Amino acid sequence: MTHPIRKPNIVLLGIDSLRADHLSSYGYLRLTSPHLDRFAQQGVLFENTFSAHIPTTSAYGSMLTGMDVFSTQVVALRHKGPLREEVKTLAEILREQGYATVCVGFSGNPSSRGFDEYLDYTAWGSWDEGRLPKAENLNEQAIPALERLLAGDKPFFLVLRHMDPHAPYLPPTPYERIFYHGNECDPANNSMQPVLAFKPFRDFLASWLPPGITDQAYVTAQYDGAIAYMDAAIQTIFTALESRGVLDETIVAVNGDHGETLYEHDCFFDHHGVYDNVLHVPLILRYPAKLPAGKRVAGFNQHKDLLPTLLELAEIETGIAFDGRSLLPLVRGEIASHESEFYITECTWMRKHGWRTPHWKLILALEPDFHFKPAVELYNLVEDPAENHNVAEENPDVVAALTVRMQAWIARREAETGLPNPIHQQGDWHGHEGVGPFTSSQQAYDTLHIGNASQAKRLQEKLKAEAEVAAAAAEEKPKAKSRARRKKKK
Ligand SMILES: [Zn+2]
Repeated sequence: MTHPIRKPNIVLLGIDSLRADHLSSYGYLRLTSPHLDRFAQQGVLFENTFSAHIPTTSAYGSMLTGMDVFSTQVVALRHKGPLREEVKTLAEILREQGYATVCVGFSGNPSSRGFDEYLDYTAWGSWDEGRLPKAENLNEQAIPALERLLAGDKPFFLVLRHMDPHAPYLPPTPYERIFYHGNECDPANNSMQPVLAFKPFRDFLASWLPPGITDQAYVTAQYDGAIAYMDAAIQTIFTALESRGVLDETIVAVNGDHGETLYEHDCFFDHHGVYDNVLHVPLILRYPAKLPAGKRVAGFNQHKDLLPTLLELAEIETGIAFDGRSLLPLVRGEIASHESEFYITECTWMRKHGWRTPHWKLILALEPDFHFKPAVELYNLVEDPAENHNVAEENPDVVAALTVRMQAWIARREAETGLPNPIHQQGDWHGHEGVGPFTSSQQAYDTLHIGNASQAKRLQEKLKAEAEVAAAAAEEKPKAKSRARRKKKK
């Protein structure tokens, strides 16, 4: 069924909400990813891959087009309208090259345009519905799809969007307990109090957390357990490729769309806030014909660089001027980094942008946020890699210098693309029609809300259910106003 002149298959595991530093191959103390660790030993692991445009829609938009946020104009989770027609997705490029293309778990999103076939699986649930085998649900779609693709006469491009590290974290047994042996409802523990006091998210969190939970460490252990569970299910996919003799002629990429905040930065078990726990994602590539085994690459790179890398590995020329560049010169040691400093954006729960260098992170709020955070944040990533100490006030010169560099980049990209910075073009980016930019953190806090797991699902599938979300939000508003929250001291 295969022959030597056929183009290589490409399998991309675009794992949602997977932060790099919770994989054991990225140095995590818990053994969360033994199978991915072994996979990494057979290929190249990139230690410094960043999701510059969080979260989902904008990140996949960059990953699947080789472009940045200026070219895609996709900067918000709730992006209105399609991806620009002028931008081609990898699925569209590969279809022109004769590939069959299948996408599992990412239908109805502007950034997943162009596949021949879309398959969905159940990745949302609640405490009442019980443990949620997301990765096995995915395999039930992916393995038969793989069989069909292998039986065909075309090379294939298969994208698998795993959702296990995305809330709700409900890994099946024994993964619930693999990293936690305490009493998650211990009345002496009050670590969940700030989490459950955060009104915008508490109803959603309560819909899938154990009733009476007091220990945040249990929730973090569910995130880690979900990764370990998914890791075992991913091995099924690797085994399927191997047992059919096509693993080595398939380019396999494992990437995260963005990371996840656990108990950090008051952002609580979600993926907002342009801190490194959300920006730093894993990237592992395996293709023994062209990539060495066991190599670790330290150079900085971003989502936009993945597509040119995959095309170079597959020896496909397009004539498209991608914003990203192939990572193979980094693998060969010819270049240390592509861009060691870069523009970062978020336009989903907060509207912020910033500039990250190897030494500093600047975050500027474009409007007040629902965490009552300061408008300017500066972190010294060398002395404070966890970004716990905002040093903006002590370093006005650094803030000024980084702002100049960021604005110069924005001006350059606007000139190169002839398009505006999309972060300024997202009226009602938060999904509340007619509200416009927030004028205070209190207004943002009182307006933003996720109801429960099924409403959260609808937020992600906004194209299908925008009307329902708006209706739910309208119902929530009067309640929110009557429970006004006192401004929290930061
Ligand atoms: Zn995502």
